[in-house]
Amino acid sequence: MEHLIETSPGSFRNETLFPVHGIFLPTVGAFVNHSCDPNLSISNNYNHEMRWEAEKEIGQDEEMFVSYIDPMLPLDERREILFNRFNFWCHCALCKKQEEEQEAAEEE
Ligand SMILES: [Zn+2]
Repeated sequence: MEHLIETSPGSFRNETLFPVHGIFLPTVGAFVNHSCDPNLSISNNYNHEMRWEAEKEIGQDEEMFVSYIDPMLPLDERREILFNRFNFWCHCALCKKQEEEQEAAEEE
């Protein structure tokens, strides 16, 4: 089963009053938190349509997360970018796991 939520920022498509020249989030997108191990991905196309796609199974009461940055970056680099750009220190499940692995490796 494919899990898709497609949104279109239709009220912002009036090119004469409010031209769209980049990526923006509709209201719902502004409330999706970050995780370095996201369960959602967001992409958009040249028609200004935003596509939300589940990256993994999402339970009914499970929070949806997107990654604000490239989640393939190393832990320290992700945290530094998130702190500098978004003003928070990431404590997502992946960051906590990798932090514990780093600490265990340092103890050896
Ligand atoms: Zn993280």
